[in-house]
Amino acid sequence: MTTGPARVRFAPSPTGDLHVGGARTALFNWIVARQTGGQFILRIEDTDQNRLVGESIDGILESIRWLGLDWDEGPLVDGPHAPYFQSQRLDLYTRYVQQLVDAGHAYPCFCSAERLAEVREQQRARKEPPGYDRHCRNLSKEEVQAKFDAGETAVYRFKMPLDGETSFYDLLRGEISYENRNLQDLVLLKTDGYPTYHMANVVDDHLMEISHIMRADEWIPTAPLHVQMYQAFGWEPPIYAHMPVVLRPDGKGKLSKRDGAVGVLEYQQKGYLPEAVVNYLALLGWAYDDKTEIFTIDELIEKFNVEKVNPSPARYSFEKLEWMNQHYINHVLELDDVAARCVPFLVDAGLVDPVAADTTTGEFARVRDTIELVKDRLKYLTEATELVDFFFKDETDDYDAETLVPRKTEPETALAGLNAAREGLADIDFSDEEALEAKLRELAGEIGLKAGQMFMPIRVAVSGRTVSPGLFETLRVLGRDTVLARIDIAIQKLQAHTA
Ligand code: GLU
Repeated sequence: MTTGPARVRFAPSPTGDLHVGGARTALFNWIVARQTGGQFILRIEDTDQNRLVGESIDGILESIRWLGLDWDEGPLVDGPHAPYFQSQRLDLYTRYVQQLVDAGHAYPCFCSAERLAEVREQQRARKEPPGYDRHCRNLSKEEVQAKFDAGETAVYRFKMPLDGETSFYDLLRGEISYENRNLQDLVLLKTDGYPTYHMANVVDDHLMEISHIMRADEWIPTAPLHVQMYQAFGWEPPIYAHMPVVLRPDGKGKLSKRDGAVGVLEYQQKGYLPEAVVNYLALLGWAYDDKTEIFTIDELIEKFNVEKVNPSPARYSFEKLEWMNQHYINHVLELDDVAARCVPFLVDAGLVDPVAADTTTGEFARVRDTIELVKDRLKYLTEATELVDFFFKDETDDYDAETLVPRKTEPETALAGLNAAREGLADIDFSDEEALEAKLRELAGEIGLKAGQMFMPIRVAVSGRTVSPGLFETLRVLGRDTVLARIDIAIQKLQAHTA
């Protein structure tokens, strides 16, 4: 697609959270920049004052940063084409609209909202497609001046050619053509002096020397206007590649909030790994072959080919993403890495002291020892807080005494097992899991219990639940003092229960 360094951009409108579809677009742009030694530019398209959600910019930047898609130019880092917020570039757009007007490619339109509504109404009645009827397209200079003198306000519209075709090449789809007679004279500049998306987008892509436009395919219908604008300015248009829409898992309609977590930061908060999210997003529309699914970011940079992106819609799968995340936690990341990433969640849950963020501390070592017991089955990091919380809590006695009693046995059975364990474990080496297991089996035999009838009450006593990581490793990590203290509490509970 290119031999030289590509200048690409991600140009979000800050109208809400960054969704996975947008993140996929950002990712593809970023990869192309990195694989060609080019630049990835981040531009905030904040000129639609009605749709602006002020605080969403921070969330968008945080989402992109969390995914690891560093930008070479844009907010916070600036660059040779600053500012990168369109709302700070308004003068520029006005100037360029004037240039189009002077060259006869744009015109002021004084039509009121009422008139436009009336036109639409008539078109509906005649079953014609809606659109502006070009009422002001041929006003003379004098007529225009007279209206301005009378205090009328105007928007500026692009003067589309009325016949012929507008074509452009899309890297995924090949040549795309539109008949000009079906195209509209769209607004470039509004009465409030703000440009529309088209105006700001085209001017900035040109001024920022963008070589490739990779964006969602919902923008294909606007591309002919953009191409015409490039021509009117006498500029070279960039190369286009429109990314396939992301569909709901059942394929019925576009993926939306109602389907589940679609905001990038929702995944961060749930304890997904950015590596897994990036890997999954890369496969939304692209495949290297028919089997490889796991790609590090470096492998993506090496292997991704934007021309191989399938233009047909891509279905989103929450399960596949969860599977991929689990795969990364279970098999790709090292234990220390997973433990370090769990720390913020454990700190937030009030289980661990923030010093654990320092991996040289004993507090971190404790986190690592517990995460080691669950790493192989963690689906996402927040799950760790539920699975290992009992290692860090002072108390685990908020369970019912009944829970201590194995099925089809009496409370006395559990009590006998716990009493035997209380005594028999008092002088065992807790760092030796095998010794712990051998001892508990031996004790069970002595008092005539099956192993399971012995282990179950101990598991509940030390963890407060019936499902926990392996019992002997759990005992090892908890250590003797905690284990014996918790068994004491369980014994008291049972005694109170049976009294
Ligand atoms: N601001 C547009 C959006 O948020 C950008 C479209 C484009 O990349 O040209 O979708």
